Amino acid sequence: MLHRFSGEVKRQQIITCRPAPKGLHGKVSEVDSSAYEGILRARAEYLTTTCIHGGEQPLPYGATDAPVVLSTAFRFDDAESAALAFQGGNEAWIYGRWGNPTVSHLESRLAAVEGAESVAVTSSGMAAIAGTLLGLFSAGDHLIAPVAMYAESARLLRERLPRHGIGTTFVHAANPDDWKAALTAHTRAVYIETPANPTLAITNIRDAVTFARSHGLLLIADNTFATPFCQTPLALGADLVLHSATKALSGHGDVVGGVVAGSRLLVDRVREYTVKGLGAVLPPLSAFLIERGLRTFALRQEQANRTAAYLAKILHAHSAIEVVHHPSLASHPQHELASAQMFAFGSMMAFEVTPMGGCDALGTGRKVINALRTATHAVSLGDARTLVVHSASTTHSTMPAETRRAAGIADGLLRLSVGLEGAAALEQDLLGALDAALAP
Ligand code: PLP
Repeated sequence: MLHRFSGEVKRQQIITCRPAPKGLHGKVSEVDSSAYEGILRARAEYLTTTCIHGGEQPLPYGATDAPVVLSTAFRFDDAESAALAFQGGNEAWIYGRWGNPTVSHLESRLAAVEGAESVAVTSSGMAAIAGTLLGLFSAGDHLIAPVAMYAESARLLRERLPRHGIGTTFVHAANPDDWKAALTAHTRAVYIETPANPTLAITNIRDAVTFARSHGLLLIADNTFATPFCQTPLALGADLVLHSATKALSGHGDVVGGVVAGSRLLVDRVREYTVKGLGAVLPPLSAFLIERGLRTFALRQEQANRTAAYLAKILHAHSAIEVVHHPSLASHPQHELASAQMFAFGSMMAFEVTPMGGCDALGTGRKVINALRTATHAVSLGDARTLVVHSASTTHSTMPAETRRAAGIADGLLRLSVGLEGAAALEQDLLGALDAALAP
């Protein structure tokens, strides 16, 4: 697979990064501790250079940023080089679905940020997930996955993959006996999403790696909620990391894309099947937008993580809130685990409103959403703007009610993707909306 622009190369820059700072490692027991502030700064300081320069390939024309190559076909010099290109024997580009210089440059940059040997980008996050599972597994194979995860991924495992003969057993991730009981002679992989959408439930990645390795299984982790700012599952032993690049990696809510990161062997298999075979190709303009967003990724995450921890604390103390799901809080049942495996607690949270103003939880949740003015009522996450959504009536409405409840998604649960607005403005907005909901 090609990883560089062909053509005149004027400059080659090799970026060597310092080793990553250690991160939380159980050091932060209180979210307001200045230690957290320092950890966020150190993580951003380390990662931001990689976000700007990591994985840069030599570019033509002396360009500092990858040119957008829209050509779908590439001219061969002669019959011999065309034949060689088809045998993979030279670095020639052939056809847009098989590889594109702008797309390939993004892959190289993302590999540096995620700490992966190789990356394949896809047309969406779901294309990355579905393509990986269909590309690596066949009829008769079996997977194990925690019950808490993004609804569309759950639907893929629950409804769509069984049509191709691939079954999944869902487990309660915190219960090791569940994992063992789910194991069959045909189990091939463990699929995890941590923190999970939208409950922020956390799976112990090290335990999942140990379990997977001791039974010869692959460990595949959706790292979208955490982002590589907060967590690097590959460094903990996962075999593949998947992302919706639609979210924080691009960060501006203007592009849809997916990421598959891991060893070259596995990533090439997924790329061959998903991109070349199924045609889930990322357009070059989308690749350009994701790469542009990537440059500010670490700084955006530093700010959003800081604000999220602040808001979690404010909401946690509010009498109209039943529970706040954010791993920064000591009240989060897996706060210690999060501290042990994450660099930072993330910019995603969820909270459950107490029924008030004469409404049930569902009605109260809707009243709060309708009263918000700064936070935007919209799906998706990881955007510069703060996004809020009522999971039970939107993102998780396709999940059967009992499955939703088993996954911990209460009727009054609001998911908040904290953006880059000022913390004080967001605080005022949230408190104002809660006051409005209190009124009969
Ligand atoms: N994984 C998670 C955790 C998500 O939240 C989403 C979408 O919200 C996806 C994957 C799918 O990504 P996309 O919408 O880019 O297909």
